[in-house]
Amino acid sequence: MSVALERPTDYARRARRARDLAERYEHAAEPLTLYGALLDAQAAAFERAREDRPRADELAAYVVRVALPGVMEATMTAGTELLREAALLRFHDGDLDAIVAAWLRGDEQTPTDTYLARAAAAPVLEALPDAAAGLRGRESDDRHCPVCGGLPQLAVFTETGEALVTGERRLVCSRCMTEWRYARMTCASCGETGGANMPILQDPGRLPHVRADACDACHRYLLTIDMRREPRAVPIVDEVAGLPLDLIAAERGYAKITPNVMGF
Ligand SMILES: [Zn+2]
Ligand SMILES: [Zn+2]
Repeated sequence: MSVALERPTDYARRARRARDLAERYEHAAEPLTLYGALLDAQAAAFERAREDRPRADELAAYVVRVALPGVMEATMTAGTELLREAALLRFHDGDLDAIVAAWLRGDEQTPTDTYLARAAAAPVLEALPDAAAGLRGRESDDRHCPVCGGLPQLAVFTETGEALVTGERRLVCSRCMTEWRYARMTCASCGETGGANMPILQDPGRLPHVRADACDACHRYLLTIDMRREPRAVPIVDEVAGLPLDLIAAERGYAKITPNVMGF
């Protein structure tokens, strides 16, 4: 039996949430607008990958052929000028198969390459758990995704529906969107459990349902979405709205465990 929990696959809901939050949060309107456009392209790639079921050894080529054109189109429609120029340059001159293959391996990449590869490959991995499982290396601790071995993008406190029952904490994979349970007062990067070493950064006026869980042992952090405070939240989207907390964390010298698809 797998330890992975259910895999939320509702791209339409994610896209709607991105558009709602783009209107609500001026501070993150630009990335949320781009994310809304990207999610439409990713929805199409997700559906196609579920039908096509490409082989593992042709995964990178499949992502480039089937998913990347939609990502480029969304980027040209809704990206900043800087991103549009950088993406066009790579799309025309880069070795696209190699860019996607490097991301699938978890290699260090430039921000533009990471953006293109991740935006195109993530929905395909989400659609194909077997392909995601093929990426798994020797990671065996619960700080890595139980399916693909990827690092967490964010944490979620789940809504229980019962006031006296404490919701559980889950981590969400930055590569394949699998969710898994994780201890509440434990650093998701190094496993530190000393509460005094784990500051919580907040912006309650603007983002009452989002916080940054930082760690003074490893100087990493990730954002936590609290569904109990915002039951309509769609964690992977609300995380992008958490930009002010990313800025506070960066000012204090913490680096995010995994930057989100928008690069922060
Ligand atoms: Zn994963
Ligand atoms: Zn830590």
